[in-house]
Amino acid sequence: MKKIAVIGSGTMGNGIAHVFAQHGFSVSLIDVSEEALQRAMGTITKNLDRMLSKGSLTEEQKEHTLRNIATYTSLPEGVRDADLVVEAATENVDLKLQIFRDLGSHTKPEAILASNTSSISITKIAAVTDRPDKVIGMHFMNPVPVMKLVEVIRGYSTSDEVTSQIMELSKQLGKVPALANDYPGFVANRILMPMINEAIYSLFEGVAGVEEIDTIMKLGMAHPMGPLQLADFIGLDVCLSILQVLHDGFGNPKYAPCPLLVNMVQAGHKGIKSGQGFYSWSHGTKELIVAERFRKH
Ligand code: NAD
Repeated sequence: MKKIAVIGSGTMGNGIAHVFAQHGFSVSLIDVSEEALQRAMGTITKNLDRMLSKGSLTEEQKEHTLRNIATYTSLPEGVRDADLVVEAATENVDLKLQIFRDLGSHTKPEAILASNTSSISITKIAAVTDRPDKVIGMHFMNPVPVMKLVEVIRGYSTSDEVTSQIMELSKQLGKVPALANDYPGFVANRILMPMINEAIYSLFEGVAGVEEIDTIMKLGMAHPMGPLQLADFIGLDVCLSILQVLHDGFGNPKYAPCPLLVNMVQAGHKGIKSGQGFYSWSHGTKELIVAERFRKH
């Protein structure tokens, strides 16, 4: 595999493009929004500069990585020569089904089609394509250049050959792949999201405040950050949609999203990406400032 197309240049798409480009692949980064593409290239450059200043990258490697990425607002043009497409567009079933339906007519028949979805069924996505055996989940973690894991999700029809190709490719990127079968939330989010939801319920029911919940989980469980901070990082809208997938998929009320999470998303408080979540991010990310409405007076 030499040519990779990444669809969606948001939080995940820019990181995925970065990692492939840094490992010598030629990357087409595609987004419907020109502004999102510009922002993504800015983020990639900033992240490469940070690696440069830490000495984990040379100036030449930085330039080479940036040269390996071309941006497109047109899907057909961007995916035409791709050996692998990694879709990282907004977490919305109808949107993803439409993208995968379109990919059939715009990609080489042998191209592998992967989705970075956090929770949507790979089997369902595969079923709308002309090649369900070549559709697979490649679930990178945020921030992609830093996090080692790729949760590889094998759909009901995914072939053995495609599964081993993607496991191998993940290793080539310096990542550690772990294989999961295609059930709601796979492994990562089936375990993580109920924990985050329970943290939000603890806040909602007044068991403890934002800082206390995060401190207890961070120091008590040796997690690198608390669940509320992590939810802000992931995006509260993303958390909500994953919980809805778990709730619908298993039909079990234990996955019902906390009403506080629903309200926050409806109010546009989506975490870092909107500047407000459980914390206020408008002051930068160095010092954690609890959002005004959760402060104790
Ligand atoms: P995001 O909202 O930051 O970015 C999504 C991007 O997709 C936007 O730039 C948007 O313009 C673009 N887009 C929308 N429709 C498109 C289309 N038809 N064609 C091309 N681009 C389109 O979202 P994100 O957080 O990067 O999430 C992307 C995917 O990655 C989702 O499936 C999400 O579940 C998954 N994911 C997210 C995280 C996380 O921590 N945020 C972690 C793992 C996986």
